[in-house]
Amino acid sequence: METIALDPTAQKRRINDMMREGLRAQDPMEPIPFFCECDSKDCFEVVWRTGPHYDEARRDASWRALAEHAPRGMATRHPTAALVGVYQHT
Ligand SMILES: [Zn+2]
Repeated sequence: METIALDPTAQKRRINDMMREGLRAQDPMEPIPFFCECDSKDCFEVVWRTGPHYDEARRDASWRALAEHAPRGMATRHPTAALVGVYQHT
């Protein structure tokens, strides 16, 4: 089976986008499980975020969802999404 030539971050981001689209009709306050968008292809840690927070972070491609394992020195918390695991990879 051929694999799509996408880096793990892009691949997981695609899955997250599909997840978000599929749940667009649900309560906006209800958190959605997204995959950690770190560089590892083996990491599928879940990051819980609400749909609106996800949409906001998605407006800037430099922001990505990262689970708690992400090194603090490498990431900056999204100012308006501090509690929902949205970080900027630096
Ligand atoms: Zn990860």
